[in-house]
Amino acid sequence: MTSCAVIGAGPVGTTMALALLRAGFDVTLFEREPALPADPRAATLQPPTLEMLHELGTGGTIIDKGLKAEVFQFRDRASDEIIAKYDYGNLAGETPFPFAVQCEQFKVADTNARAIEAMRPGTLRLATQVTGFDDRGDGVSIRFDGPDGDGEMTVDYLVGCDGGRSLTRKALDIAFEGFTYEERFLVLTTTHDFFQRGFAVRNYVLDPKQWCALFKVPHDGPPGLWRTVFPAPAADGEVDALCDSYVRQQIGGLDSSLTLDDVLHRNIYAVNQRVAASFRKGRVFLAGDAAHVNNPLGGLGMNSGIHDAINLAGKLVAAQAEPDRAEALFDAYDEERRSIAKTYVQAQTIQNKKRLEAKTPEARAAAKAELHDSSADPERHKAWVMNASLIAGLRSLNSEKET
Ligand SMILES: Cc1cc2nc3c(=O)[nH]c(=O)nc-3n(C[C@H](O)[C@H](O)[C@H](O)COP(=O)(O)OP(=O)(O)OC[C@H]3O[C@@H](n4cnc5c(N)ncnc54)[C@H](O)[C@@H]3O)c2cc1C
Repeated sequence: MTSCAVIGAGPVGTTMALALLRAGFDVTLFEREPALPADPRAATLQPPTLEMLHELGTGGTIIDKGLKAEVFQFRDRASDEIIAKYDYGNLAGETPFPFAVQCEQFKVADTNARAIEAMRPGTLRLATQVTGFDDRGDGVSIRFDGPDGDGEMTVDYLVGCDGGRSLTRKALDIAFEGFTYEERFLVLTTTHDFFQRGFAVRNYVLDPKQWCALFKVPHDGPPGLWRTVFPAPAADGEVDALCDSYVRQQIGGLDSSLTLDDVLHRNIYAVNQRVAASFRKGRVFLAGDAAHVNNPLGGLGMNSGIHDAINLAGKLVAAQAEPDRAEALFDAYDEERRSIAKTYVQAQTIQNKKRLEAKTPEARAAAKAELHDSSADPERHKAWVMNASLIAGLRSLNSEKET
């Protein structure tokens, strides 16, 4: 039986572990925290991700826990005018799930983790931090520190799904190429009901200084909560972006009836656009944020990470059946997923930010015209949602394989 260790029980690591377990691998999933992290981060699941999770048996539960988002909306902050509405209903016939689902990432990880533990109890080792590893050529020896002290194990393969600060990537000495935005992102969670003003479940608000992403999450059930993402000054600046006056200024500009009492959580994040120079070295692989990070505008980070996990699981299963092809399969994982990360995920998220914050009147007018015109034209509208949902990227990979 092929053995594999996975570091990190986020949405990507739990998907990886579940996919391999279902394929009959001997899997160990390490998570350094004593419980799955529940901080407010990703929440959007795109249709191909729903298909993959459905295949793993957890998609139905995740859809039931989430909110369906058929439409997403672009507005202008100054005029409050709705510039464009994109409808995932246009994806009918392309996917069995022609909608996005808003479901907090820890619920995705938790649903996968429960499925893992139901299949093989003890696979998930909480409060156990991987501290190092050596690729010996015929296997990988791993050192960890858990509730019973230090331990060691040897496995055939190791997958680092250990997030943006990945120990795996650093230990492999793989460069994380790209850049960090000077500004940071301020995430505010509020009980305020934006449906009253005609917002959709997912919205993007254009403004040169106070652009905003606004989306609903189910939380503990109806009525749910709303998350807003605003730009915030650099950490070394003079403004404290978490202070009352800055928060009031951001939310007040979005809706003058909002007060500080409506804000439940305040978080601030540094934002990176980076892709690892390689997604594998020998018997060790990177997936998810360990391999690529991007700004959250477009809801693509968690999704593309889950797509990495499914792609890599397929390659590991194929390599088990045909060991002679293992090297070629593993190189293909690196090439395919790195190419998607660069061509689709990095390109789209960078473009999404530029569009929201268009600075000059000319750039703003061009961004609005592009949104308006492409949403009004049925062919361009469909092409837009094919791209935004990551279906186009995955199809391009399949058509390359066929040619
Ligand atoms: C504000 C914000 C909003 C976002 N919104 C979206 C969105 O709407 N849609 C979207 O697709 N993406 C979004 N993202 C990105 C998304 O959160 C990440 O892409 C996603 O969390 C990646 O999942 P992961 O499993 O790769 O990593 P993580 O979720 O970071 O999980 C890594 C896990 O590894 C564990 N770990 C780390 N090191 C070790 C070790 N040595 N030993 C054991 N365990 C270890 C950590 O404790 C953690 O549980 C957003 C991100 C932010 C910051």
